[in-house]
Amino acid sequence: MASTAQLPSSERRAEIEANLGGVGNAVRQSSSASGARLVAVSKLKPASDILAAYASGQRHFGENYVQELCEKAAVLPADIKWHFIGRLQSNKCKALAAVPNLWAVETIDSEAKARKLNDAWAAAGHVHSLNVFIQVNTSGEANKGGVEPLEVEGVVRAIGESCERLSLLGLMTIGSLDGSSRRPNPDFLCLRQLRDSLGARLELSMGMSDDYAHALELGATSVRVGSKIFGTRAPKPV
Ligand SMILES: *Cc1c(COP(=O)(O)O)cnc(C)c1O
Repeated sequence: MASTAQLPSSERRAEIEANLGGVGNAVRQSSSASGARLVAVSKLKPASDILAAYASGQRHFGENYVQELCEKAAVLPADIKWHFIGRLQSNKCKALAAVPNLWAVETIDSEAKARKLNDAWAAAGHVHSLNVFIQVNTSGEANKGGVEPLEVEGVVRAIGESCERLSLLGLMTIGSLDGSSRRPNPDFLCLRQLRDSLGARLELSMGMSDDYAHALELGATSVRVGSKIFGTRAPKPV
């Protein structure tokens, strides 16, 4: 797929490069020997911004809206590793699975959606399997997405038994606003304890712009950072 996006102004490039360098250094310094992954969250930012980060060596990018991800993937380099981190809707699985370089879906929140995504990925004819994370509702807030902690084991089993085109990479949490100001962050602790209790070698995707360093201290293997790299976003479309 040809990359047709254009680089932004040299000023904007320098800004993104500097931000990315700062966050990247912090991730390298505070993560374990194996190194954590930095996912640059580019939702609501133009493709040109992504290309600037790409030019600085960044390859993992996260998007929240399926249509936006599809549009960007079509005009950006094919070796970008896209992460879908938005709320997963059953009727969008097919469109998502059509993105050839979709690298991971981090927001599996039910067995049913895991199956739906598995089938869509199979139907799209990819030879490799698709990485997924189970999103966990670590804060117990009713309005938060994700699987209840006690139900995670069942979803892990279901993916292993009946989703052969999916590869379970780990657990993910967004966490509550309330928890994000507490140290240690209770959502991160919950996710880590859950992983430990499963006795599995699963990754932990947790931590955003304001708390990624803290998340790394608590064992995050993948952090999702947006505004610290690309600047503040315009309000979410409704
Ligand atoms: C937007 C978003 C992020 C990045 O948030 P920042 O605070 O801008 O770093 C990370 N994870 C998810 C799920 C998001 O929706």
